[in-house]
Amino acid sequence: MKILVSNDDGYRSEGIRRLRMALSDLAEVTVVAPDRNRSGASNSLTLDVPLRVFDVEENVYFVPGTPTDCVHLAISGLFDFEFDMVVSGVNDGPNLGDDVLYSGTVAAAIEGRFLGLPTIAVSLCTGPGTGGHFETGAHVARLLVRHLMKRPLERALILNVNVPDVPFEAIRGFKPTRLGYRHRSEPVIRAHDPRGRPVYWIGPAGPQQDAGPGTDFDAVANGYVSVTPLQIDLTRHAALPAVGAWLEELDA
Ligand code: MN
Repeated sequence: MKILVSNDDGYRSEGIRRLRMALSDLAEVTVVAPDRNRSGASNSLTLDVPLRVFDVEENVYFVPGTPTDCVHLAISGLFDFEFDMVVSGVNDGPNLGDDVLYSGTVAAAIEGRFLGLPTIAVSLCTGPGTGGHFETGAHVARLLVRHLMKRPLERALILNVNVPDVPFEAIRGFKPTRLGYRHRSEPVIRAHDPRGRPVYWIGPAGPQQDAGPGTDFDAVANGYVSVTPLQIDLTRHAALPAVGAWLEELDA
């Protein structure tokens, strides 16, 4: 059993070091991760410059590139063996609802979707003043990976896992969830550089809007590990007839 571990916080982050340790007695673990924090990189590939791989220690590599670059390289020719699974994380911060569209943590897991087993993205719901219980996130990842090895789910499934930032003993259980929604994000923050020119910071994500029972937001808020199965098909199948009828009437 060979597991590829990646993330979007960079190869030196506490979350990825804890994750690697937690999985090390279950499988052969190889880390290929970005050189620095690339949170928010989504599914981006670097196509304009070549990628270089640097080795840090045995089975740990970093790439000046995106999370998707790292996983793509690792499963498409960097090594002379195949991985069975990709585990991404443990991210410093939640990836709930619409966050998954921007998340590099989830993107790393998505890039592994054609491997033999489902891939897992694990995020710890840290926030201002929370403890940073990365050991909890790593332990949750270990439990899910071990379970997948015994009881595999369908292939090409992506599990988006969010873990409350509490000691493991305080976790109330595991819940299957759907993605909730956030409100529109906060406006950009305008500031000035030392020469008086305007600069902008992307503002924080919006507050939760659809966070009712069954959602990932609700599970985490109530002390449960949220496990959302994701799919890549973004087609809005229910809208196909309406779009078809609309195109019939197109003046062309
Ligand atoms: Mn991150």
